[in-house]
Amino acid sequence: MPAIMPWVIGNWKMNPETPTAQQQLTQQLIDHIAEHLASGAALVNLNLAVAPTLLHLLTVQQQLQQAKSAVQVIAQDVSRFAGTGAYTGDVSAQLLANAGIGMTLIGHSERRSLYGEDATVLREKLQAAINAGLKVVFCVGETLTEREAGQAEQVVLQQLDEVFDCIDLQHWQQNLMVAYEPVWAIGTGKTASPQDAESMHAAIRAGLKNYHSSLVDLPILYGGSVKPDNAASLAACANINGALVGGASLDADSFIKIARAF
Ligand code: PGA
Repeated sequence: MPAIMPWVIGNWKMNPETPTAQQQLTQQLIDHIAEHLASGAALVNLNLAVAPTLLHLLTVQQQLQQAKSAVQVIAQDVSRFAGTGAYTGDVSAQLLANAGIGMTLIGHSERRSLYGEDATVLREKLQAAINAGLKVVFCVGETLTEREAGQAEQVVLQQLDEVFDCIDLQHWQQNLMVAYEPVWAIGTGKTASPQDAESMHAAIRAGLKNYHSSLVDLPILYGGSVKPDNAASLAACANINGALVGGASLDADSFIKIARAF
């Protein structure tokens, strides 16, 4: 299997609180990366991205571009509806693409549980994103009850199965990544052990390979309480190709420490 270039993505969720704080966080990120590079530390062979709120996507992007930063800006979510039209409150994949945003998360567990996004909605979102030319980080993960019932693998593979046929194989190959985020590990301080995470990632990879051998190279990110002190043990796992970082991404120093582990 060829080396897969890792991704470390900061999911800022509905944070931070003010435009000034967004700007400061972005600046801290720029400064920390510059410091790491100046000290000879490698942050190469790694894709870095942040997902600010919709409100701040473009200002964060502009600030990063002005600093000539390679950090990419991605959306946390996207409308299930395509193009433009009478969809109050929504932002479509086409609008994101037209504004220069090239990637989005889809299926984050908070979208699934708090907004009732089911397979039908996620299929529409995936199609809308892919048709507009966006890349997608598709999130999957089981709840604690499902894990305790011994159903974790089955649930996660089912979440992939539900959407697999809604886009072409070629788009899976070129434009998709998977993020495994056990719901019980998100924002709780409980990380999956490297063994449990690796075992799920291996199952996801086998599932993808089962769809088509070319999908064996898809990046599979881990998310759920990734912190500087557990990043290295997760990064050491053969099938973990990066991290989707929530809480710790709100601190630029922690985020870069995590990134350096990959
Ligand atoms: P967390 O969030 O790192 O705060 O657990 C991860 C996520 O929800 O993407």
